[in-house]
Amino acid sequence: MRVPFFDLKVQYAAIKSEIRRAIDEVCDNQQFILGPQVHRLEDEIARYCGARCAVGVSSGTDALLLALMALGIGSGDEVITTPYTFIATAGSIARSGARPVFVDIDPARFTIDPKLIADRITERTRAILPVHLFGRCAEMEPIRTLAAQHQIAVIEDAAQAIGAEDEFGRMAGCIGLLGCFSFYPTKNLGGFGDGGMVTTNDSSLASTLFALRNHGASTKYLHSLLGGNFRLDELQAVLLAVKLQHLDQWTKQRIINAERYDALFRERGLECRIRLPELPRNERHVFNQYVVRVSRRDELSRFLESRGIGHDIYYPRPLHLQVCFEYLGYKEGDMPVSERAAKEALALPIYPELTQPMQEYVVDALQTFYGERSS
Ligand SMILES: *Cc1c(COP(=O)(O)O)cnc(C)c1O
Repeated sequence: MRVPFFDLKVQYAAIKSEIRRAIDEVCDNQQFILGPQVHRLEDEIARYCGARCAVGVSSGTDALLLALMALGIGSGDEVITTPYTFIATAGSIARSGARPVFVDIDPARFTIDPKLIADRITERTRAILPVHLFGRCAEMEPIRTLAAQHQIAVIEDAAQAIGAEDEFGRMAGCIGLLGCFSFYPTKNLGGFGDGGMVTTNDSSLASTLFALRNHGASTKYLHSLLGGNFRLDELQAVLLAVKLQHLDQWTKQRIINAERYDALFRERGLECRIRLPELPRNERHVFNQYVVRVSRRDELSRFLESRGIGHDIYYPRPLHLQVCFEYLGYKEGDMPVSERAAKEALALPIYPELTQPMQEYVVDALQTFYGERSS
């Protein structure tokens, strides 16, 4: 058997006719930039996330950059974030001109540890940028409280977490001031190329975002702001609108798969060898990734490779130790929880179409590797 890490072809086969029809609609229309499909998707994503406004943009990375730009964050400012995330999070802060300030993570959730934030807030801090990593919301309530006390913004990196809910039933992307989403093909709602969205309940911020994504023009050829080309195109929008109709079903399947892994690992007594992700009962974790923590991680990775089992490592090097952030002056040991996670984390296949026999094959392989007997 082979178990791919993800398989977008199976998903496509199931919705091919809907997708082809949607492509035809845009082709017949021949309007490719900022037309009815983008507006429709913006309305639908806003409704889905419970936000007042949604602004379609060119990628998740650009969503983050635009969110920072819309708040006027730049040179001389500091933005607090996690080092245990994809480069785009802190990369966008640096590209805005601001300085990323890293705060270590909580070991169970992999998301920024709110207890460590207060100490890093200075008079230059303009925003806190938590990441809802792997599909689970960061612990937002203490972050909101801190942000309110210091009158700074909360920008959520919800790239991996569309549809996730925190313990108060609030949806990822709508808990802070601005929410940033990615439609990269392997995200839970993935396009046929790049795309992203910024959500907010603040309509004046939304107007700024609408202008910024299109060269800062709110009226054609009149540029009150310096923006850029950060547009989402009609083809991506129409395909995403088709896929959005299926998102909840796919998410449900991801959760079922996570629960099945959990049961299988426990049946075999492997939960003492492998640290399983929590299955929070009063939250909605949307499992963009199913990440376990293991010893001998790199050896396990080679073993899984030999068994034809797809997997990946998120993230092998935390951002405070990346060469591009050397100028920030961090060193090894500064973020111990992230550094340890970077050595232990391993993502197993969790995509919606993954079958039970495939999951059993994965669990069998881990059992063989760790030499545990069935209990
Ligand atoms: C994917 C991702 C991004 C960037 O999204 P793109 O659409 O690839 O630009 C940002 N942050 C996180 C946490 C991501 O996983």
